[in-house]
Amino acid sequence: MSEHYDVAIIGAGMSGLAAGIRAAHFGKKAIILEQHNAPGGLNSFYAKDGRKYDVGLHAMTNFVPAKERRAIFNKLLRQLRIDRAELDLIEQKSSRVAFPGVNLRFGNDEALLEAEVERLFPGQIDGFVRLSVAIRNYPDLDLNQPYHSTRKWIKQFVTDPLLEEMIFCPLMYYGSAVEDDMDVGQFVIMFRSIFHEGLARPAEGIRLLIRVVLDRYRKLGGIRKMKTGVKQLIAEDGKISRIVLQDGSEVTADVVLSCAGLPETYALVDPSLVPDESNQAGKLSFSETIAVYNSLPETWGWGDDTIVFFNNAERFSYRNPADPIDLRSGVICLPNNFEFGDRPLKEGLVRVTCLASHDNWCGYSDEEYEKAKTDWFERIQKSILPMMPPSTREYAGDLVATDMFTPRTVKKFTRRARGAIYGSPEKVKDGRTSWDNLFLCGTDQGYLGIVGSMLSGVVMANEHVLKG
Ligand SMILES: Cc1cc2nc3c(=O)[nH]c(=O)nc-3n(C[C@H](O)[C@H](O)[C@H](O)COP(=O)(O)OP(=O)(O)OC[C@H]3O[C@@H](n4cnc5c(N)ncnc54)[C@H](O)[C@@H]3O)c2cc1C
Repeated sequence: MSEHYDVAIIGAGMSGLAAGIRAAHFGKKAIILEQHNAPGGLNSFYAKDGRKYDVGLHAMTNFVPAKERRAIFNKLLRQLRIDRAELDLIEQKSSRVAFPGVNLRFGNDEALLEAEVERLFPGQIDGFVRLSVAIRNYPDLDLNQPYHSTRKWIKQFVTDPLLEEMIFCPLMYYGSAVEDDMDVGQFVIMFRSIFHEGLARPAEGIRLLIRVVLDRYRKLGGIRKMKTGVKQLIAEDGKISRIVLQDGSEVTADVVLSCAGLPETYALVDPSLVPDESNQAGKLSFSETIAVYNSLPETWGWGDDTIVFFNNAERFSYRNPADPIDLRSGVICLPNNFEFGDRPLKEGLVRVTCLASHDNWCGYSDEEYEKAKTDWFERIQKSILPMMPPSTREYAGDLVATDMFTPRTVKKFTRRARGAIYGSPEKVKDGRTSWDNLFLCGTDQGYLGIVGSMLSGVVMANEHVLKG
């Protein structure tokens, strides 16, 4: 006899864990089924040669002070009954968007960005302020809004193409599954969460957040099975009647919530579908290099930038590249440059994210793959030199460890079609699928990033597990 649950959640990513807490808190019998041995999904951690690395953390978006009770981040923590102090959050210093000859700085006080726009684009400031107001007043989280192109929408506010690209660069890199454009709803969410609100990180990194969330779920009696992939979802009479696990055993549930992704979830019901070949598969994937140094960036004269969103090309392009890596733009994250005060990280860290091609990286033999990683690591490190203060140029001798991940890594560990971190360009905002009791949550429901995916888990659990 297979075990029956009120809700079965596919994936112990941030959305699945948040949905699990919500369901368990209201007395639902919940199980989370995760194929990997580590929790967190795209946002996890690992150890290599005795050193701990975060996978998915540059920064948590949506940071606001605790007193702003109506802000999304504080509401999310209340819904999950997580005490903010447990997360030991530290704020960014400041970040910048670096285009040839122009640096636009922003921080956790939105006045900085406004002052920068006024200084660098004086003719655009009125439009920028109107844009900011329109974003503040945009209808909240409407689950039924169709896709609207931000490229068209933004022109009523911002008419300088350079400023438009500089606004898009961080918002696309931190949350667009669409090439060279964004859905207005998604743009609004990202603008608020990065420019109106801000960036912070748990002092200890992502493992602290995951520990707090897992602890909460466990204390509520939630069940979690790791290394337990879902192999197939059996549909009968328009509903999922059985969940077949990788080891051949089965469980049943009134409601199934999947954070595996849109084409990936449909392929679980119909194994003849290949997620990578689906029109709904994401087109955008990324590589990331991690360089660990004996010394801290501030000792090289690079102590101010927390994150640099850069573009060296005449026009910013946010597309799946033809080459393995697009070196023209990217994101540099300096984890040391949060406000650590008198408890700095022990080693210096520089992470660089670039657009990367799934087909190239997943087409290599093992040997070609290792060689390509070594080559591209070097090329990426060279490509960021123009963004670094001249005083930092000698720091390379201090390097103690490196790592690099590619679309192939993302696909292997999370099963995301085409290694697409931001999932499908088609988002299903109400979470509904072709089956009455199967719902999506997380990335392909439409809220991205750490805070977004947790919010998605909460909203989908409220809507389909608690109300339903
Ligand atoms: C390198 C990188 C850097 C990032 N940086 C940031 C950042 O700085 N700030 C930020 O806010 N966000 C960042 N993100 C994005 C953020 O991590 C994700 O948006 C978020 O974690 C997505 O959560 P999710 O729950 O929707 O999906 P996922 O994390 O993908 O969770 C899905 C889970 O389902 C599991 N699964 C899939 N198929 C099955 C199956 N058949 N059976 C069982 N389990 C299955 C997977 O193993 C996975 O654990 C980053 C991501 C990456 C990869």
